[in-house]
Amino acid sequence: MSTSPAIDLTATCGAVAAALEARHGAAQRERITVGLRQVAALWQGRDGTASDFEEFALAHFAAGAALDALFARLEFVLESLHGHMHEISRDLRWHSDLDLESMLPLDTILSGYDPGAHFVDDAFDNKLAFVVLLNFPSTSLAQRLDSGALWSRQRWAQARLVDLFSRRIPAHVTLAVAEAAGASDRYIASYNLWAHHWVDDQGQRLFEAGKKLLSHWNLRDELKSRYAQGADGLPHQRMIAQVMDRIVTQTIPAAVIDCPWVDWNPATNTVTPSSVHDAPGTPPTDLRADPAAEPDTRYQRLLQCFQAVKQMDPFCLVAPTHIDRSFDDERQLPIDRAVRMLEDVCASPLVGRVAHVIQHRLGRPLEPFDVWYSGFRAGAGVSEASLDQIVQLRYPNAQAFKSALAPMLVKLGFGEERAAWLASRIEVDPARGSGHAMGAQRRGDNARLRTRIGARGMDYKGFNIAVHELGHNVEQTFSLNCVDHWLLNGVPNTAFTEAMAFVFQALDLKLLDQTTERPGSDAERSLSAFWSTYEIAGVSLVDIGIWQWMYAHPDATAAQLKEAVLQIAKDVWNRYYAPHFGQRDCVLLAIYSHIVHSFLYVPDYAIGHMIACQIEQHIQKTGKLGEEIERMATLGRLSPDLWMQQATGQPVGPQALLDATASALGKLKQ
Ligand SMILES: [Zn+2]
Repeated sequence: MSTSPAIDLTATCGAVAAALEARHGAAQRERITVGLRQVAALWQGRDGTASDFEEFALAHFAAGAALDALFARLEFVLESLHGHMHEISRDLRWHSDLDLESMLPLDTILSGYDPGAHFVDDAFDNKLAFVVLLNFPSTSLAQRLDSGALWSRQRWAQARLVDLFSRRIPAHVTLAVAEAAGASDRYIASYNLWAHHWVDDQGQRLFEAGKKLLSHWNLRDELKSRYAQGADGLPHQRMIAQVMDRIVTQTIPAAVIDCPWVDWNPATNTVTPSSVHDAPGTPPTDLRADPAAEPDTRYQRLLQCFQAVKQMDPFCLVAPTHIDRSFDDERQLPIDRAVRMLEDVCASPLVGRVAHVIQHRLGRPLEPFDVWYSGFRAGAGVSEASLDQIVQLRYPNAQAFKSALAPMLVKLGFGEERAAWLASRIEVDPARGSGHAMGAQRRGDNARLRTRIGARGMDYKGFNIAVHELGHNVEQTFSLNCVDHWLLNGVPNTAFTEAMAFVFQALDLKLLDQTTERPGSDAERSLSAFWSTYEIAGVSLVDIGIWQWMYAHPDATAAQLKEAVLQIAKDVWNRYYAPHFGQRDCVLLAIYSHIVHSFLYVPDYAIGHMIACQIEQHIQKTGKLGEEIERMATLGRLSPDLWMQQATGQPVGPQALLDATASALGKLKQ
């Protein structure tokens, strides 16, 4: 499929509008004008001539009872279409997702096939999309924020209906985006560093043999894990921070990436052939211990993602840039609001107070990598090994977990009847991976809780994750089955369902009848949430700054983009972090791999922490987990502020997180 040129329908629109108005009356004038404009904007030559357009509009414009009937018909078929398509996809992935029988080579082909991938294209080709655009106005985020509170539920459902068809992206553009995303994913997925081959100035190896660290996740988690060693872990942490700096500044020698055959001193950047072999295989015969730096590949990949996604801009009815689509369309939160929320956390006077607590616990001044401080200790007073035992005994297989759903839900605070109903709507499957929650998409179908069950049954880690997934499944089940319009099923964005999952997850020990939480667990949990929000809020500001810069400099080279990223990272650091960490111009915030391959996703993490805190606090305050989760999950996909307003009485914001932090600091003092 290729793009065919748009045709000029201005004159036709005028004539058709007059004919429609004569038929439906002057009261329909605005709807007619808007509908025709929307169809004309995405109508292309291959959709038909001007007279085809006219014939189409005259046949499909509806008003009054006919409009209601049209909307009901669309909602009915879309539920069926999406719901059954979802079931087919689930079956195609069944043997790849579930730990049932061994996988066949065929399963890779099956799981890679998406039967719904061409739905929107087909809907434009057969004109279903145009029927929607002709009859229902698309709305900008500004309009939804302005008057959404006054809209009826049906009006909101219609807004969601138009959202499905507000873009008509040509196949070659979709392909370009997929290719750029794929190239970035592969670049990131193979960015391994072999820590045993890092040497210090004395030639010492600090890390154990065979340790392969994927940037940035494993680097950061290795750094975090070293806090348990106190001062002994400090040289390791400093070395990891140095490695991160080399990656961000692209001064890392290309020869050390994903290569266990050379040794590297990250401080001096010298590279030498390694005498230690801690990886499978043999070194290549043409191995060169070359100190030449990676040639800005990191920024080349990011730039390609930007250039690809920018090609979508002209094909979107509303939200004409990727930044608009990311904030206005997907998060439904204006970027200025989001930035203010992030800055409110970063600039909060609480940062200094929490930094002081950390400094006191570490017994040394903070260093930049302490943005990843992980020493706040919540959790059980009993060991993980004994929790493993309890869990293994209770849940030897998926069936045992399924049978326990109803009693667990009662223990969490749901009434007997609701708990039994939810349990009948959630299936439990043994997952290959760590687990996930897969909601249904039509009301005749059930949600699936996928959980990891080892040979000896479930372990505590698996249980903890399964309880998190159960939270998702409960939200999915209420919001699909109890919302008044199918088009409104779900929550405003992923942060909201994550919040409910966290509420469940935090109660996992209660479900195991463990009442021996560590003293001060609540306060420790709050401080931990605050510190990670502060950290990821800075990364989010860097991510946003980078995308704004790219749009302002669409012709930049990778080298120019690198300089810009370094400057943006330093600016954010100097403003919000340097005052607490005693070092300026640090670029560590730009280490996140998401910046390279996730198209402006990072802010979701920070905003998610804030939303989670609001929802948790509200549930704690009311003390009615079951009733409140049900009420909140049936509000449906409104805008985030409207949802939060109806759920908790407040718009989305960081205040709950800040309040919890202040109260935790108070408790520590006692
Ligand atoms: Zn989750």
